Amino acid sequence: MQARNILVVGAGPVGTVAALACARFGHQVTLLEAQAQVDDSPRASTTQPPTLEILAELGLIDEYIAQGLMSRTFQFWDRARLRLIAEFDFDRLRGETAYPYVVQTEQHKLALMGIARLRAMPNAQVRMATKVLEIAQDATGATVQTESGELRADYVIGCDGGRSTVRKSLGIEFEGFTWPERFLVITTRFDFEAALGCCYRNYMADPEEWTNLFKVAGDDLKGRWRAVFNTRPDESDEEALSDAAVRARLARVYVPEAERDYLHLNLYNVHQRVAQQFRRGRVFLCGDAAHVNNPIGGLGLNSGIHEAWHLARLLNGGGDLDDYERVRRPLNIEYVQEQTIANKKRLEERDPLTREKRFDELRRMADDPVKHKAFLMRASLLEGARRLE
Ligand SMILES: Cc1cc2nc3c(=O)[nH]c(=O)nc-3n(C[C@H](O)[C@H](O)[C@H](O)COP(=O)(O)OP(=O)(O)OC[C@H]3O[C@@H](n4cnc5c(N)ncnc54)[C@H](O)[C@@H]3O)c2cc1C
Repeated sequence: MQARNILVVGAGPVGTVAALACARFGHQVTLLEAQAQVDDSPRASTTQPPTLEILAELGLIDEYIAQGLMSRTFQFWDRARLRLIAEFDFDRLRGETAYPYVVQTEQHKLALMGIARLRAMPNAQVRMATKVLEIAQDATGATVQTESGELRADYVIGCDGGRSTVRKSLGIEFEGFTWPERFLVITTRFDFEAALGCCYRNYMADPEEWTNLFKVAGDDLKGRWRAVFNTRPDESDEEALSDAAVRARLARVYVPEAERDYLHLNLYNVHQRVAQQFRRGRVFLCGDAAHVNNPIGGLGLNSGIHEAWHLARLLNGGGDLDDYERVRRPLNIEYVQEQTIANKKRLEERDPLTREKRFDELRRMADDPVKHKAFLMRASLLEGARRLE
């Protein structure tokens, strides 16, 4: 395969994976990042089995697992009555994948790992603090305008997140909607596993306000928890972030008064949107630049990494470049958009009868080995990945 000159915009986790995959295939790669440092705000951590398979192909898996926490199970709870409803166990995927578990590693660690590998490669360049302003293309290549000059490339991969300049510069619509509520992430050292008997990944339904609890390793590997809550649509940012409201939320998830101190707060707008096109000529969109979704189920970043790996293989001569959009766009709609919307509805159901019906469905699925495995195949994105193979 002839070596190409590939420009990747955005050194988030998807951009670094795209750049690393292309560089390992022997292409000349430049990774451009607007910020001087990698963004370390608390976002994705749940890494699904097919994503772990890709990280293994990229030679990152041991380091990745060493910087995170392995988690075999996830649980659904009824928060109001502190009832465990159902538990799902990834071990049921043994035989389907070499990684029958998820790994909870914060997304900035993946970006940092990828950047370190790229810096050690003679055919790769990482340029931080280099913001892309505009993209144009002609018959022989693409021209990228940055704050510090102009660059040419055979192909450009836009991994510049939900507000993607690359997508806007191409005039591609970002179709979908924004939820009226925001999601609040409270990071705390409070040990929910010891206090509630839950596992490292928990989805707690409640008609008024749901909570999701995840344990992550933290940069110091000492462990900390992220408690994610929906805000009320009429709640202002100031109110949601106020100390009193944060402590009240921790109280509602059974944290005793003396232990309601927290390390970090983050408030996010939440969207379900998919770009009308994933490719325009020599320019491709990957990750959040191509689609965004609510984080319930841990699918957004995972699907972005699958796209980056798929595209790198296509650009390396592994198939028709048109397959990228033809395959990835419907996969995102079917597996990521549909499941994350269903996951959110399951947590916030208000009608008591429907709530109990949903809980019963979950129990029945968890109790039936065939349904249990089928649910995990879909929820982990393994079903879509295997369909593609
Ligand atoms: C609370 C929360 C929890 C989540 N949990 C999960 C989870 O468990 N699992 C999961 O799969 N997903 C999860 N997600 C989603 C996940 O965080 C995103 O899908 C992920 O960040 C997408 O990565 P990305 O590299 O595409 O974009 P980003 O992480 O947004 O990175 C884009 C990069 O591009 C840079 N950039 C932007 N504009 C330019 C420009 N003009 N020029 C150069 N660089 C530019 C930015 O500075 C940034 O570094 C969660 C999200 C939230 C909010």
